Amino acid sequence: MRSSSSADLTDLKIVEADVPRPEQLKTLFRANQSLLLKATKRLAKINPRSLDSAVHSMHDQAFGFYDCLLCANCCRSISPAIRYSDVDDMAKKLRIKPSEVVEKYLRTDSDGDFVFHSAPCPFIDGDNYCSIYSHRPKACREYPHTDRSRFYQLLKLSLKNAEICPVVYAILLKLSAV
Ligand code: SF4
Ligand code: SF4
Repeated sequence: MRSSSSADLTDLKIVEADVPRPEQLKTLFRANQSLLLKATKRLAKINPRSLDSAVHSMHDQAFGFYDCLLCANCCRSISPAIRYSDVDDMAKKLRIKPSEVVEKYLRTDSDGDFVFHSAPCPFIDGDNYCSIYSHRPKACREYPHTDRSRFYQLLKLSLKNAEICPVVYAILLKLSAV
């Protein structure tokens, strides 16, 4: 039987070969979905500080070599939830009124949150650069949430994100072996 000790967690490392290319991700996710689901259930029961430490360490390793500009899956396939303060920030950057940001770029989703009205995001360009980068929504800055505290609260969300973000997939797959 495998152990879930914190010593096992501290041994986890992410290297370049662990992070799939964006175009491989859907197939890999489908093949390993039930393994990842079981892992997230198991990880919810282990020491939260040990889990945070392992996930943050793998996040730093992965984003030390992985170039988001070669991916942009998040910007192309999902919208962040957008707060009123994000609308104000975007309006400043675009030099239009907040009401025009809402009218031109946003809709309300089934949870009542503002989201971009279309995917890919209207602000991503052909080279995967964000044209409002300095004023992008908070949720964009925080994605994919693998450097946040209390990761045990983000396990369900991360399972969804593992289908979108190659780094989240790689981190969860490593954790599934513990
Ligand atoms: S605002 Fe920028 S970072 Fe956020 S989804 Fe759009 S392109 Fe991506
Ligand atoms: S955060 Fe994840 S999904 Fe978004 S561009 Fe970076 S690697 Fe890709």
